[in-house]
Amino acid sequence: MNLSQSPELQQFRSEIRSYFQNDYPKDILEKVASGASLTTADVRKAEMALGAKGWLASAWPKEHGGPGWSIEEQYIFDEELERAGVPTVTPMGVVYVGPVVYTFGSDEQKAAWLPGIADGSVGWAQGYSEPDAGSDLASLQFSAVRDGDEYVLNGTKIWTSAANHADWIFLLTRTSKEEKKQLGITFVCAELDQPGVTVKPIISIDGKYHLSQVEFVDVRVPVFNRIGEEGKGWTYSQYLLGNERTSYARIGGKRTQLANIRAIASQISAGGNQRLIDDSAFAARLSAADMRVDALEITVLRVLCSVKDGGSPGKEASILKIMATETAQEITGLFCVAAAEHGMRKFDDSVSPEWTGDAAFAAPGVATYFGTRAQSIYGGTNEIQRNIIAKHVLDL
Ligand SMILES: Cc1cc2nc3c(=O)[nH]c(=O)nc-3n(C[C@H](O)[C@H](O)[C@H](O)COP(=O)(O)OP(=O)(O)OC[C@H]3O[C@@H](n4cnc5c(N)ncnc54)[C@H](O)[C@@H]3O)c2cc1C
Repeated sequence: MNLSQSPELQQFRSEIRSYFQNDYPKDILEKVASGASLTTADVRKAEMALGAKGWLASAWPKEHGGPGWSIEEQYIFDEELERAGVPTVTPMGVVYVGPVVYTFGSDEQKAAWLPGIADGSVGWAQGYSEPDAGSDLASLQFSAVRDGDEYVLNGTKIWTSAANHADWIFLLTRTSKEEKKQLGITFVCAELDQPGVTVKPIISIDGKYHLSQVEFVDVRVPVFNRIGEEGKGWTYSQYLLGNERTSYARIGGKRTQLANIRAIASQISAGGNQRLIDDSAFAARLSAADMRVDALEITVLRVLCSVKDGGSPGKEASILKIMATETAQEITGLFCVAAAEHGMRKFDDSVSPEWTGDAAFAAPGVATYFGTRAQSIYGGTNEIQRNIIAKHVLDL
């Protein structure tokens, strides 16, 4: 894969860069840069801006509403999007459930759900985890009982990201307890704004509200909302997780963070006349982080090439997930070193105007550090990814 040489790709890159510099909503970029939380209206505005260009579902084939880009174009687009400081696209619609719908859904389901995902007007959440089913996901208890043309849903999902911004949720439900537990699971979608559904906020360690507990009591949904066959939900859920784990790389964002840390460390004193950037231990960690991002990039490109050649991310996605999340944690750790005592400031929803100089970057950077601790937990913990690699990649 050649990302820099061809004139067509260079032209493509400058078109994308120019859009983000000149036409993307500036208020959203400013809010993200200040570390402020986005409201639901902000999220819709940000995603509909990309949707209007036909760029939100950037990896989808044209026939389903995507731009039909090559792997190289998608990669360049992601790099430019992250470089510009655009908020991370909520993945539950475009990266997670969208491909499940167009791969396993009926034509009627494609017509009902794909347009709203691709244009950014409809938000989705992921209902996998439960209070007693995380790593051992197949032991989930959330029940869907068939009653004529409907399923009756009862149960609790937890750690549901972006449920506060979502209109729909896709759920792993138990439709049978008779056989091996993976075989009794069914993939069902439901609207969140209906009687019997309660979305309760959970405030996370970064001081923000992006997680919820979602409770369903006797909620009826049409059988139409089931994707694929009853009892085959586990298969669809694992296909989805392969895409989810591959999506964590975010190379452009990591390079931007490293450049920011370098700029900050060039300003900050490490005692006497020495700047932090001249501190040999800090500089060595920074260089090591650069190399980790290079190695991650090569791994992503290898996985993308195998997908392009007709493969799927498969179990190798677990390698990528560990590399990407540990690198993200190391980079945000460097931010905290640079923040030093300023990192003790409370990270509020936006940076107070009186915080200038060193302090201005510290609070959002430290909040990001805390938020990034969760990356080795969600999408299947990194311990579980090591088990997968041992069993399915190394055949141990
Ligand atoms: C910020 C955040 C966002 C999330 N978003 C979502 C979401 O949108 N939708 C959703 O459905 N879920 C979401 N999750 C939930 C996430 O997928 C689970 O937290 C995760 O799968 C772990 O499950 P658990 O929390 O029940 O921990 P447990 O499964 O109880 O694990 C506890 C510890 O034991 C270890 N462990 C467990 N089993 C093994 C084993 N067999 N071998 C070795 N170690 C093991 C784990 O690695 C972990 O360290 C989110 C979580 C976080 C933190």
